Amino acid sequence: MPIRRSQVLVKWIFENQHKLQTIRWCSSSLRYKELEDSVQADHVAPSPTQKPHPQITPEISFKYEDLQVRLAAPYQLTPKPEAKELGFGKYFTDHMLKIYYHKELGGWQKPEIMPFENLNIHPAAKALHYAIQLFEGLKAYRGVDDKIRLFRPELNMERMNLAAQRSGLPMFDGEELVQCIKRLVQIDQEWVPHSETSTLYIRPTLIGIEPTFGIMAPESALLFVILSPVSAYYKASSDGAVSIFADPNVVRAFPGGVGNRKVGSNYGPTIEATARAAKLGHHQVLWLFGPDHQLTEVGAMNIFMVHINDQGDKQLSTPPLNGLILPGVTRRSIIELASQWEDIVVREEVITMDRVIQLNQQGRLLEMFGAGTAVIISPISRVGFLEQNIEIPTMKQSNPVFQRVKDTLLAIQYGHVEHPYAKVIS
Ligand SMILES: *Cc1c(COP(=O)(O)O)cnc(C)c1O
Repeated sequence: MPIRRSQVLVKWIFENQHKLQTIRWCSSSLRYKELEDSVQADHVAPSPTQKPHPQITPEISFKYEDLQVRLAAPYQLTPKPEAKELGFGKYFTDHMLKIYYHKELGGWQKPEIMPFENLNIHPAAKALHYAIQLFEGLKAYRGVDDKIRLFRPELNMERMNLAAQRSGLPMFDGEELVQCIKRLVQIDQEWVPHSETSTLYIRPTLIGIEPTFGIMAPESALLFVILSPVSAYYKASSDGAVSIFADPNVVRAFPGGVGNRKVGSNYGPTIEATARAAKLGHHQVLWLFGPDHQLTEVGAMNIFMVHINDQGDKQLSTPPLNGLILPGVTRRSIIELASQWEDIVVREEVITMDRVIQLNQQGRLLEMFGAGTAVIISPISRVGFLEQNIEIPTMKQSNPVFQRVKDTLLAIQYGHVEHPYAKVIS
């Protein structure tokens, strides 16, 4: 009966294998104790010029000067798609940037540029459970002079650090990250489309990777940056304008929340409402707030309205940054640029649905549009609200403000004019 006996033995081992390990270190303090003891046993005093650990950057932030670059081998390079096939965020370039943060190793580690690869993270990583993460979106534009430009990247860095602070993620020196991003774009510069209708979208992301279930600041994090060549991010009617749907029963953000931060948890919960709007024939959701139905944002864009004000002047309005609104770089740039135009008044003011309807009935509502890095400017021609469809005459204006705003931004981004907002990187 030797076979049966060994089968029984195998079964016993299978069921009891967890008992077979005589020493199981469940407690990290025990493990560290052991490590400490072994280090003390053969302790060599580090010379004062040596860093205690080659991977540790002792300052608060990582530094561009520590950047390590590992280029993709020729066989790892992927073919570049045609500009017209690009879509939005479907293709990625050959390299990425990664910067780890490990509290127990002294904080931020050295930035690394490497061939694009999948991440390997623990299933308990906090980012996957509690959305302890944030992201950014900016673009690299190839100008008419063939030079590549970034548009006000320091504002994205500032916003990233604010979101990090809110989520217990580590902060960093934004200027250092901009330097690293510039290098990454330079390495993948052939991926910046040779076209004025496409760009290279830059997606910095910061995720908490500590693999523990506690809802607290992660002791380890990963900042990575990936690049995607994109064409105009557009789903619109034949005239190029969008129809938007306002449902007073859903909110995107609320006072004291994180509507003003680019954290992933703001976006997943918008999908159902967007799908409902699409079923009714609209392209985007108009996010309202409060009993007076204040307009806050449209889709993932800031909203603007052009009307004839009570003084009879043409006015460009957008809701104020009251915590419910993402402080868009495009929004801020539009406000700053249009403030210098003499034929238009610019105001940050609360806009309610009643006001929109009233102005429209009086023939004083001229335009509505959304603005953001991905789309630049998206004119709005219809608003669905409480069983009615309000037609907005945005596309009927002879010299629309949205077009002027768009042309001004594009001229800066693609280097038709020199402007301090655009930073040449190569
Ligand atoms: C990113 C974003 C914007 C636009 O911000 P930009 O900096 O102009 O790209 C507007 N609203 C929401 C909700 C966003 O996520």
